[in-house]
Amino acid sequence: MLIYDLDSPSLENLFKEWNEPTYRAKQVWQGLYQHLYNSPEQFSNLPKSLREKLTEHTTFAPFKVKVFQDSSDGFTRKTLFELPDKNLIEAVLMRYGDPADNPQITASAPDSKNLRGAKNRRTLCISTQAGCAMGCVFCATGQMGFKRHLSSGEIVAQVMYYAQMLKDVNESVTNIVFMGMGEPFHNYDNTMSAIDCLNDADVRMATTLGLAASPSRLRAWFHKSNVSLTRGDRST
Ligand code: SF4
Repeated sequence: MLIYDLDSPSLENLFKEWNEPTYRAKQVWQGLYQHLYNSPEQFSNLPKSLREKLTEHTTFAPFKVKVFQDSSDGFTRKTLFELPDKNLIEAVLMRYGDPADNPQITASAPDSKNLRGAKNRRTLCISTQAGCAMGCVFCATGQMGFKRHLSSGEIVAQVMYYAQMLKDVNESVTNIVFMGMGEPFHNYDNTMSAIDCLNDADVRMATTLGLAASPSRLRAWFHKSNVSLTRGDRST
């Protein structure tokens, strides 16, 4: 099971099933979303037996990096991820800030030191589906057709990938837009669960609204979240 598919109550339930105390689940939640650990070995505050259980029963990496590409100015990185079923999704990091603050580093290697940017906005554009059913004529993803919905954990994992990378240079994600592959409200439940998880983890978000969603459900959800919605137009 993908660890990012578990929200906080689900993680606590899993630990109950494992006869582990609740505070252990809280330690794992904090490790994942505050310390940004990306493997069980990093949880040095857990007993070895529990780290082994996590290794045996969960996965922290739902995809591998197929290829990445940096913009010529070094402010933007696009990463193509390959899922275990060979479907591909992409997520883009965009850095906005004052170029005068930036270290002049060539953007070519995969490690975070080679990303340039001032310490202002760090916006991620992430995918909610592999492919897309909407078929917008101007969009390459639309012409691919629909492959499958991403799970909430697969959506969250894109954020965690970049958050872990930014942590290495003492930076963090500030904004998220759901404008990568897929139509977020065609994958409504998983997108909402991912946003709830990221909201609990205290990542500031701006998201885009595509398909019409149930007004009452959205109202209830906004009431408890810190998310702002913007109507996006990807044709311009
Ligand atoms: S909804 Fe978005 S991802 Fe889907 S075809 Fe249209 S522009 Fe492309």
